[in-house]
Amino acid sequence: MNNKTVRTRFAPSPTGFLHVGSARTALFAFLAARKYGGQFVLRIEDTDKEREMEGAIGHIMESLRWLGISWDEGPNIDGPYAPYVQSSRLELYRTYAHRLVADGLAYQDPYTEEEVEAWRKQAEEEKRPFLFREHRPASHFKGAGQGTWDGRSALRFRVPHIKRYTWNDLVRGELTAGEEALDDFILLKADGYPTYNFCHVVDDIEMQITHVMRGEEFISSTPKFLSLYEALGVEPPLFATLPSILGAEGTKKLSKRDGAQDILEYRAQGYLPEAMVNFLALLGWNPGTEQEFFSMEELIEAFSIERIQRSGAQFNTEKLLFVNHHWMRELPDEEYLARARREGHLETTNEARLRKAIPLLKERASIFAEADEMLTGELSCLFLRAAPLREILLAKDPNDPAQHFTETTLKEVHGLITGLAEETSAEEIKTYLMAYADRNPKEQGGRGAILWPLRYALSGQERSPDPFMLIHILGKQESLLRIEEAIDILKE
Ligand code: GLU
Repeated sequence: MNNKTVRTRFAPSPTGFLHVGSARTALFAFLAARKYGGQFVLRIEDTDKEREMEGAIGHIMESLRWLGISWDEGPNIDGPYAPYVQSSRLELYRTYAHRLVADGLAYQDPYTEEEVEAWRKQAEEEKRPFLFREHRPASHFKGAGQGTWDGRSALRFRVPHIKRYTWNDLVRGELTAGEEALDDFILLKADGYPTYNFCHVVDDIEMQITHVMRGEEFISSTPKFLSLYEALGVEPPLFATLPSILGAEGTKKLSKRDGAQDILEYRAQGYLPEAMVNFLALLGWNPGTEQEFFSMEELIEAFSIERIQRSGAQFNTEKLLFVNHHWMRELPDEEYLARARREGHLETTNEARLRKAIPLLKERASIFAEADEMLTGELSCLFLRAAPLREILLAKDPNDPAQHFTETTLKEVHGLITGLAEETSAEEIKTYLMAYADRNPKEQGGRGAILWPLRYALSGQERSPDPFMLIHILGKQESLLRIEEAIDILKE
């Protein structure tokens, strides 16, 4: 690494929402800047006006904020290289363009779009690559200091050397490509807007970017960028190519079905930003240790560009759920509820019971959407009273002698619960009732013959949390009512 201050950037085009792949790129660039004590820049690359999507910039910024990826310079923060939105930097690109024209390294495109398109088609039919430079008009290039450009026509780069380029990618090592990628590409379109190939190089130079981190789709164009740096007489930045993200099969690129969705979709479903960040960091980077869970601070500490992998990283939804579950369990109960509510989850009419049920939800649900389902599914007994069925209250096996004692034992447990203090923990209730259940003789079904009907009487569900937890969450009055109802049913 050279000794310049590390400056990385995330340069999204506002053509869509922030999805998993771009979020991972942003995160890695952010981590590198933080790790090496540098700056992280957010730059909006909005020169393709036709593909621009309304609201995308706001959405991208909101996604980054949610993830905790903060930028030091960007559209909403003034910085030394402002503005940070390309459509507001058109003057700068023109200045660079004029410089290239003056140096004889750019020329006015003399052809119509139709002419160029016809050559492209012809090359395609002949199955050979189309190279504009083969049609470079000799008459239009008169050497340095003599080029002309009316400023209203498209401007093309005059690629100075047709040669192979070899560069060192910080992740992939030595890469080489050349002639086939080099061409007289368009710098500025007739409408005055620059092409990506041109303006991102200008901006990376102007913004003093030291490390360019992006996906592998840019490798094949790198000779183009390098020839432009050469023409401008500027040392290129360091390149770090991030591995592609593969779907569940591990072969194809991540698709919508595998989880390539908008980051804010994850937020809506009740994933935590801590988990997303932890998960995204491990998509193509590894700490070299067994550590699985990382906070942002820990990531900054542990991160290194050297440990970014070359091969594709598999997106595993199970793993994401697992990581999310971990971070959900780390939240204090109050925070758990506050976070859920912020996204419209865990709405219920019985706040007191919901609060007491949080430890159960934490244990069972990997995301808030799953916790919601539990409130109306396997944990619905916490809120709704479902009448138990007589035959289930009794032992399932009609010959089981334990059934003859069910009514009596429920009555005894009822008496015990009556003696409980109002706010007793599930743990205390357990100790208290187990002392009684354990005394039940084997011939009368042992502790199971007490705990089963009790749990079922309380829940009305064959599967539910244990009876101690139920009594704790339902509260004394509701628990007693439910047991009374069960006793009545047994009398029928
Ligand atoms: N605007 C480009 C994109 O969104 C940025 C590529 C780059 O990082 O240079 O793909």
